Amino acid sequence: MVQRLTYRRRLSYNTKSNRRRVVRTPGGKLVYQYLKKPKKIPRCGQCKDKLRGIQPARPMERSRMCRRKKTVKRVYGGVLCHKCVKERIVRAFLIEEQKIVIKVMKTQAFAKLKKAENETVQSNPKNKIIGTKTLSDFETLQQSSCNLVTKKR
Ligand SMILES: [Zn+2]
Repeated sequence: MVQRLTYRRRLSYNTKSNRRRVVRTPGGKLVYQYLKKPKKIPRCGQCKDKLRGIQPARPMERSRMCRRKKTVKRVYGGVLCHKCVKERIVRAFLIEEQKIVIKVMKTQAFAKLKKAENETVQSNPKNKIIGTKTLSDFETLQQSSCNLVTKKR
């Protein structure tokens, strides 16, 4: 008949923290060997992909580990994967570029507007409409560029 096994600890329920394995001792007896909860590898905060170069461990174990085993030496190392960091850097760069483009276009539009206003003062008032037209044109341009940025996201 198969040998019946008993728990070796006081916890008597089949819970997650009470996982065990049957092991044969050198004396030929079968006993339970208690198992620890599975270690996990941290995941990327954005794409939930497993992070490379980090030692799997339980949270308490991790608190005792040295820094080298918990992170990689990169911005957002141990928090985000390399792909997400790359994406963030590129996006930030493009947004900054967009800001510069908008600034340049704004100054150009203002210059045009002032030029138009000067002309209207000199000549007939019909030209004033052209001046406002350029401003509205500029606004639509700005909106379309903003849409471009949001589309990329
Ligand atoms: Zn990621």
